[in-house]
Amino acid sequence: MSTDARTRAWVEVEAAALLRNYRRMQRAAGGHAGVLPMVKADAYGLGMTEVVDLLRPLRPAGFGVATVEAGVRLRGHGVDERIVVFTPLAPGEEVRAARGGLEVVVGSLDSIARACSAGLVFHLEVDTGMGRAGLPLAELLSDPGEVAVALRSAGELWTGLFTHLHSADESGAPEVDTQLDRFRSAVEVLEPPPSVELHVDNSAGALLRAGGGARAAAERLPPFALLRPGIHLYGGASGPELPSPDPVVSLRARVVRIADLEAGDTVGYGATWRAPGATRIATLAIGYGDGLPRALSNRGEVLLHGRRVPVVGRVSMDMTTANISGVEGVRVGDVATLIGRDGEEAVSIEEVAGWAGTIPYEILTGLGARLPRIWESE
Ligand SMILES: *Cc1c(COP(=O)(O)O)cnc(C)c1O
Repeated sequence: MSTDARTRAWVEVEAAALLRNYRRMQRAAGGHAGVLPMVKADAYGLGMTEVVDLLRPLRPAGFGVATVEAGVRLRGHGVDERIVVFTPLAPGEEVRAARGGLEVVVGSLDSIARACSAGLVFHLEVDTGMGRAGLPLAELLSDPGEVAVALRSAGELWTGLFTHLHSADESGAPEVDTQLDRFRSAVEVLEPPPSVELHVDNSAGALLRAGGGARAAAERLPPFALLRPGIHLYGGASGPELPSPDPVVSLRARVVRIADLEAGDTVGYGATWRAPGATRIATLAIGYGDGLPRALSNRGEVLLHGRRVPVVGRVSMDMTTANISGVEGVRVGDVATLIGRDGEEAVSIEEVAGWAGTIPYEILTGLGARLPRIWESE
């Protein structure tokens, strides 16, 4: 891999780690279910076509995207596997989805009708508590007749029946049993033909149930045909009690200035940090314009020469300042690590998300277009 991209700030992606995480999901699938990796939001910021090219040789069951646009882009890239668009379509998108040979999700009589008239293969989502998409369970149970008729007349176009877990990452995950029981009541009233695939698990659900969680509720259901993992593949943890993924992403930036300050000198917009005494400050060529959360201002930590140093002053759009007084020998051109390992120390995505009051998903998908993604193969 060329090192040209490592001039200012960049993302390193470890292909081998991503593959190990994928295989962990395959093991969770236990041989009877296919893995349908979610590559939405440009594969959680890593690069959709690169991730897809990496995973295709492992014969995934297909790929999950969020937009018709992304699905069409994958077709243009030569992907002939199944592609499922997991966000409900806005009316009018059906024609493009059909032309791209994409599968869609539906959650109402109206969207079933729209999918059918466009000849779209579809998955019916049942809303068992997520409350953002899918046919609300109560609506289905109060009048299952009409939906059943619509599904029967859809024939082969009806390919999947699924729900989405909202709390599989939480300790003990009691809500998973509730959602699985609700899903079961949908399966019972709809009586899908064997050709219709059932699927439920995201990364957390897959890891939870691979570890024996929510077993009784799952055993009352037919086996799931697909897993839909996302975050675990890309190195984000799914929950404090679930197996950790191998880290996949590192975020690095060059030191572009070093300055010695005296007591009282200030750093950054708003002069929110003031040197208590003689202090050495390194300026890193990365900022919130690259997706580094501004919330790390006076709060986060970065690695230099394998040591943790604090971010001081406000993160600005293109630059971030760190107090390197404790580290000898830092030079302009040295590489700082904002996510990932440097020697004995590592900063995790979870840690950065914690400083920023958000979740690893938002950190990854927020990594800016300005950062080159450098794929490393071991
Ligand atoms: C994003 C998404 C997933 C993947 O979730 P992770 O928590 O990233 O594993 C699975 N299913 C649906 C419907 C999704 O939208």
